[in-house]
Amino acid sequence: MGTLIERVDVAPGYRLEDYAEYNYLAPQVAELEAAAREAVPRLGGRTIWIVSSTRQGGGVAEGMPRIISLMRQLGLSVEWVVIHSPDPAFFPLTKRLHNQLHGMGKGGLGRSDRQLYDAVSDRLADALANEVGSRDILIVHDPQPLGTGARVKKKRGIPAIWRCHIGVDGPTPASEEAWQFLSADTLAYDRSVFTLPGYVPPFLSGAATIMTPGIDPLTHKNRELSVHKTSGILVDAALAATVHPTVAPPFAAQALRLQADGSFKAAVFPEDLGLLFRPVVTQISRWDRLKGFGPLLDGFVLLKERKPARTRGARHQLSIDHARLVFAGPDPAGVQDDPEAAETLAELCRKWTGLPAGLQHDIAILTLPMASVKENALMVNALQRCSTIVAQNSIREGFGLTVAEAMWKTLPVMGGAAAGIRAQVEDGITGRLVDDPENPEAVAGTLDAMFIDDKEREVWGRNARDRVSRESLIFGEVRRWLQLLATVSR
Ligand code: UDP
Repeated sequence: MGTLIERVDVAPGYRLEDYAEYNYLAPQVAELEAAAREAVPRLGGRTIWIVSSTRQGGGVAEGMPRIISLMRQLGLSVEWVVIHSPDPAFFPLTKRLHNQLHGMGKGGLGRSDRQLYDAVSDRLADALANEVGSRDILIVHDPQPLGTGARVKKKRGIPAIWRCHIGVDGPTPASEEAWQFLSADTLAYDRSVFTLPGYVPPFLSGAATIMTPGIDPLTHKNRELSVHKTSGILVDAALAATVHPTVAPPFAAQALRLQADGSFKAAVFPEDLGLLFRPVVTQISRWDRLKGFGPLLDGFVLLKERKPARTRGARHQLSIDHARLVFAGPDPAGVQDDPEAAETLAELCRKWTGLPAGLQHDIAILTLPMASVKENALMVNALQRCSTIVAQNSIREGFGLTVAEAMWKTLPVMGGAAAGIRAQVEDGITGRLVDDPENPEAVAGTLDAMFIDDKEREVWGRNARDRVSRESLIFGEVRRWLQLLATVSR
């Protein structure tokens, strides 16, 4: 399709019948099929074009193959295309817009930014408009391809929906400036879709739909794993050492861990992490400052070093003494639309390198290769499953699929009180919220409290799974997409 617009192949994946074989999923599959009987005839002969800016890395890319596969099985014609920028300054600009829409940053968008955004959007729109038919429908994700989609819609006169995964529940000068920058393009669309009502800017309130994303319970990221499978994956990925023979061969690309000399080596060096035996706090995310890795690391160090206000019981104290903190994120080279990832990871590496050797042993910074989507997903799944607590200390979070993924695995989550996480974690019911994720003291206090009681953590984990199974599975998300597509196709 050319170098600017790449069509992404999507494997068929699980069939609806495969999901329906599980009794606990069958009712949601039936509901989805009923919605499809209503909506799909109204969409006959139209292709749905989904446009985004990366095929891997991050929440948007995560759900796409599964959503597309389900839509196709339900009878829709769907294509997924990813934009590539002809100008290297474009993704750094859209990353600024991303941060500003999350309410962060200093702002200062100028005329050269406008020219760059418009010029790239014009070129991409010319390339995409040739592919799109006159009865087709566009679904465009996030600010990167927003301008492209707006132009294609105008050229072809077709329905278009903009899906925004970002937001802040309370405008800041930076977010208002970014909305002003994007407003003309957003207004070109028939509808926009936001994750939470608080994210909708006032000028779009009449044309906005609210939709939370969902996770697929059968993918490699979320499927059940036995203890043997989990440990096998850890060994295959070099995340754990063993003296025993394993059935599966080592992964082609293994997890890497920051070493004292600043290099990255297989994660079993300098010694086994103890993932299968120790209390483990894990955060798995893109390397983005808004994910709160820095204050989480500082909070964990405080927890290890400080004398608590109240005396800890012997078991509580031992849990903390033995605990390890694991940070994992994609190898920055594998995510095209996140130019700050390498810088954020380098900052964390510097922070870690400044720690005393004992703490370096207790804190592991891992990069997970993206070469194989399956192996990357299995590594994330296994790491989450051997966690005592999954942390997502985000300062800002549109939704946080990592939170839903952990909750689905019956894990208690310690979440930063960003809006997307507050929408999922109920404090003291499905996990714990840190009021101020930028404050290491608050992080340390919350982790400390979560280590007190194994039984309490188990209750939170079970409640978490229950909530995700009711509210955050992919079937509900696809059902809402079908309904929305039918509405705009009129
Ligand atoms: N993820 C992954 N491999 C990694 C790190 C993250 O597959 O090395 C996935 C993670 O499991 C989740 C997604 O990336 O599915 C992140 O989505 P989320 O909504 O949490 O955050 P976003 O990246 O969209 O800000």
